[in-house]
Amino acid sequence: MICALMCPLISRLISSVITCFVLLGCLGAAGGNGNAAGIMQAVRLNRPFSLRTGQQVTVKGEKLRIKFEAVEEDSRCPANVTCVWAGNAAVRLEFSINHRDRKSLTLNTAKSTTLVGERQYHGYKVVLLGLNPYPQSNQKIAPHDYVATLLVIKERAGPTDGLPSGTTHPEQRVSEIDRVRLAEAFRIGQTLGNRLWPDWNKAPFAVLLVTPENEFLIRHAKPSADFTLINYDPLLQSKVYYRARTQPQNLLATFPVVGGIPTIVIGQAKNTTKKTSTPWVVTVLHEHFHQLQYSQPGYYPAVDALALSRGDQSGMWMLNYPFPYDWPEMKDHFYLLSGLLVDALQTRNKDEFPGKLSAYRRQRDELGKTLSPDDYRYFSFQMWQEGIARYTEYRIAKLAAGRYKPSKAFRTLKDYKPFAEVAEQVMSGIVNELITGQLDDHKRVKFYALGAGEGLLLDRINPRWRQRYFIDKFYLDKYFDGLKGSNS
Ligand SMILES: [Zn+2]
Repeated sequence: MICALMCPLISRLISSVITCFVLLGCLGAAGGNGNAAGIMQAVRLNRPFSLRTGQQVTVKGEKLRIKFEAVEEDSRCPANVTCVWAGNAAVRLEFSINHRDRKSLTLNTAKSTTLVGERQYHGYKVVLLGLNPYPQSNQKIAPHDYVATLLVIKERAGPTDGLPSGTTHPEQRVSEIDRVRLAEAFRIGQTLGNRLWPDWNKAPFAVLLVTPENEFLIRHAKPSADFTLINYDPLLQSKVYYRARTQPQNLLATFPVVGGIPTIVIGQAKNTTKKTSTPWVVTVLHEHFHQLQYSQPGYYPAVDALALSRGDQSGMWMLNYPFPYDWPEMKDHFYLLSGLLVDALQTRNKDEFPGKLSAYRRQRDELGKTLSPDDYRYFSFQMWQEGIARYTEYRIAKLAAGRYKPSKAFRTLKDYKPFAEVAEQVMSGIVNELITGQLDDHKRVKFYALGAGEGLLLDRINPRWRQRYFIDKFYLDKYFDGLKGSNS
């Protein structure tokens, strides 16, 4: 239900992203100020810009001048090689005010206690956002070919060299409770995610947190030029950027809202239907599972190959597909199917389970024969995509309820609830929807509950079905084939 709100945007955004790549190269290097040697161009405060070795810029309305002197070191791990650490590139910049007080400072692409990526100079903070080209094992980069992406932020007036900043307004920071909640979601993703889905931790975990005033971009590799860097947040282990709000405050969705990267766009707990900390964190992980789905190679072509859009370019077909929800015989089919699924799921008796499983599968086959091929593909797609996202929500909450220990900061939040409780809530939500949800009323939401239930059924037969999930897409019923129909 959650993503479905925004799924329609995906194809539209994808096409604009593609256009963006073709036309602009799409990096955050706003204002292509590639100055020819000798001509000094002016860049703007709070806007990322690019600078080639040897070039210099002034900052519009300011007396600051910055020159890219040289790359002192480039030990970054080549893109096509596996390294023990990411390596570092050190960029030396020369700063001056009115051509006086020249000072050379080094900024690094790697961040550690000894390597910094930003420096203060006369009340300005200069941040190294990136350095291109990225090394390849078989190519040497000529010294003058380097292009740094930089950002200049004005801090308080007066010399603050070497001092930490901290001059942002309170509303331009992620609040403490949001930081604790997000950090918990990141931690669960990191420590438990791969136990459920192979390589889940390799999927992007970019988040756009929507507050009444602002949007905060976290763990995002390509912030667009309208974002301003606030700081590096050690708790979130990420640079944090903000911009004025553009999205609804109650959103729970995942789509490529910034830089073509599938990003979780989520309001603060109190402004969403989730209301409190633990369900909100579990929802973030539901959305993070969508990031895993969308970042699979071949995902978008496979969606196109379903051929269900009927000429719709906006992606709205995912919500509005004309499935025959209102047909009386369809309602009967789904009523029966849901009942049989709940019956199979709730059976604890080993001897009874195979019979209940067969009864469910027979009814599912009957439904398959009743549906038109297009309707069947739509039903299957929603089961696969949203159904398994709901299933994942339950499973990850259940995992977090096990040996995982939530951080102290999270456990001491006023509205903290144990993950075991939230797992039970998700489960009863699924069962309730199966038993009482009316097809003509709840429409595709009914498919989500069926998909979640089917994932749980597959677990009971053979948990290894998940290894086929991304390889053999969009038809959960295929995963029953070749599996033993017993509760081993
Ligand atoms: Zn979803």
